[in-house]
Amino acid sequence: RFIALEGGEGVGKSTQLRLLAQALQADGHVVVTTREPGGTPGAEAIRAMVLANEGEGWGPRAEALLFAAARADHVDRLIRPALERGEWVLTDRYLDSSRAYQGGGSGLSDDDILALHRIGSEGLLPDRTILLTLDPEETARRLTLRDEGRADRIGGRDAAYHARVAAAFRRFAEAEPHRFTLVDASGTPESVHARILSAVSGL
Ligand code: C5P
Repeated sequence: RFIALEGGEGVGKSTQLRLLAQALQADGHVVVTTREPGGTPGAEAIRAMVLANEGEGWGPRAEALLFAAARADHVDRLIRPALERGEWVLTDRYLDSSRAYQGGGSGLSDDDILALHRIGSEGLLPDRTILLTLDPEETARRLTLRDEGRADRIGGRDAAYHARVAAAFRRFAEAEPHRFTLVDASGTPESVHARILSAVSGL
């Protein structure tokens, strides 16, 4: 089974990924946890390049191509082999982050991003995509607690950009209700975890 956690910065994806992995392992499953951009040495190298934020940065098309290349490596070398061994793969971000950030945020067309995904990763989709949703005020509060003081590792993105990203995530979830489950990310980590467990119980 292949599960992706999606959502903006500060919604708790990495904490929830860890809790879900522990729960599945306690049930006797073999679980691989990973993240994007990254997950393999090649994809982590691309992550470092994209997030370096030095010089003039990357344009949206170059960024989309780099993320698609990172995902191709991630799918070929980690995700698909694990799925073929019958393991569970849990990833912190996947395709829908590309659609939301480079598409919704930066204005590339969804068709183009899906085309890159077909070429790079043979269109592999998660069995379930959990979209964690949280209002902007609570997100900002959590990011401050996390001691990062900023909403994005990539510079130059403003609140309007993040609002477009959030709106795009919701549009995708509404358009594909069989693949997505929206999960309210407010409250304690334990209460969010319980919501996620019920979202994946059918798998
Ligand atoms: O989830 P995490 O904070 O590790 O993501 C790393 C950075 O990459 C974030 O700043 C996120 O906004 C950005 N990102 C992006 N486009 C993607 C995936 C992540 O801009 N497709």
